Amino acid sequence: SGRSSFLIVANRLPVDRVIEPDGRASWRGSPGGLVTALTPVMQSRHGAWLGWTGAADELLEPFEHDGMDLIPVPITAEEVELYYEGFSNATLWPLYHDVVAQPLFERAMWETYRSVNERFAEAAARTAERGAVVWVQDYQLQLVPAMLRKMRPDLRIGFFLHIPFPPIELFWRLPWRQELVEGLLGADLVGFQLAGGAANFRQLCKRLLNVNHKSSEIFLDDRTVKTLPFPISVDFGELDALVRDPQIIHRAKEIRVELGDPEHVLLGVDRLDYTKGIGLRLEAFGELLKEQRITPEEAVFVQIATPSRERVEEYRRLRDDIELQVGRINGEHSNMGRQPVQYFHQSYDKRELAALYLAADVMVVTPLRDGMNLVAKEYVACHHDHQGALVLSEFAGAANELRQAYLVNPYDVEGVKRQMMSAMNASPHELARRMRTMRRRVATYDVDRWASEFLRALES
Ligand code: UDP
Repeated sequence: SGRSSFLIVANRLPVDRVIEPDGRASWRGSPGGLVTALTPVMQSRHGAWLGWTGAADELLEPFEHDGMDLIPVPITAEEVELYYEGFSNATLWPLYHDVVAQPLFERAMWETYRSVNERFAEAAARTAERGAVVWVQDYQLQLVPAMLRKMRPDLRIGFFLHIPFPPIELFWRLPWRQELVEGLLGADLVGFQLAGGAANFRQLCKRLLNVNHKSSEIFLDDRTVKTLPFPISVDFGELDALVRDPQIIHRAKEIRVELGDPEHVLLGVDRLDYTKGIGLRLEAFGELLKEQRITPEEAVFVQIATPSRERVEEYRRLRDDIELQVGRINGEHSNMGRQPVQYFHQSYDKRELAALYLAADVMVVTPLRDGMNLVAKEYVACHHDHQGALVLSEFAGAANELRQAYLVNPYDVEGVKRQMMSAMNASPHELARRMRTMRRRVATYDVDRWASEFLRALES
């Protein structure tokens, strides 16, 4: 494959390996909204996507998939441990999510993060044609913009951070804070989920490097860097169509029957991550049962907790804690044939999730900090019936747009309980009033809009 005029650089390639019934391996597009949004852009511009296959110590030639050139960047087992599980997920992830867990600051992790970023930058420099547009994704690759600019000053470089950008006081702890910020400043455009994250970044640049900024622009010696918010979203049209599919409608009814046809089905869908506030929402639900404000006959809480980062110590501990808690609540409140918390440590496909969203009366999204939270937007996109209530943490990026949700401070258990009760007891009219406004927002600002606005800002 030749050089490309449009490049995505991300930790992971947009495909998952699948083993066919005949034993042969092949690739399937990964289900995320990012991939859906970018595939048409990639096809029309003959784009290339650089990233890791997800398997350690694997050396693969570039290959084509769905009209895109995919360029694997190899990562060794040791690098997975230090760059990916280490610096990305045990240092940056907790640091950027308000230090809800203690970040590790280890020099070997940093060194590996830097050398893996260098490898991504070199691969991009080899692939991009003269004057190409390169869009770098997320916290695993924050050094790539500056490294790439040094190798290829002719490129137009954009960066988008999918997770929150923290306040200065927290970022300041990072021993490598200056190199990290200089890495990002290699881009022409640095995009954030929220205006607040962009403002945090500009203030940090001022304090750390004494560079001036005015509105969205940061002024360096020889060029300016734009910093803007682009709240990521979902494929509204696809989800809206999915929940009109008779099979999905049937499945949603079936789920309610399988749950024993309770009056209220509450639902949580999260990666099993300590930022998601799974424990505190179960605590709130457990207390409502204990105080007999709800009974196991009338309310069931379905919690999907998708396996995630299971080799990182914090995540193993979290799993044990949540499973202990589920066991306690069910132990205290179950009766024969009825368990108030239905817990699933499994991953589901789009169709089953859509049926679950449709079946749920109350969607409970209570992260302590979340860049956006797509689950909240997916729930809204699935309720063309204008029913269903969304309980949503103020600390999720989505709360910025979904103002008609039952907003909660997740640290306030009494408040969470109160809003869960209000959501369960709201009139159909009240639910419709809230849902209609939220749907308008998600329908208008969908993931296509997100991608096209970012690229328009990058190329203007
Ligand atoms: N998801 C999924 N299967 C599952 C659970 C979640 O496909 O079993 C998807 C979900 O539909 C959503 C994404 O995973 O699109 C989670 O995105 P979100 O922004 O809510 O959280 P993140 O995991 O990125 O922190």
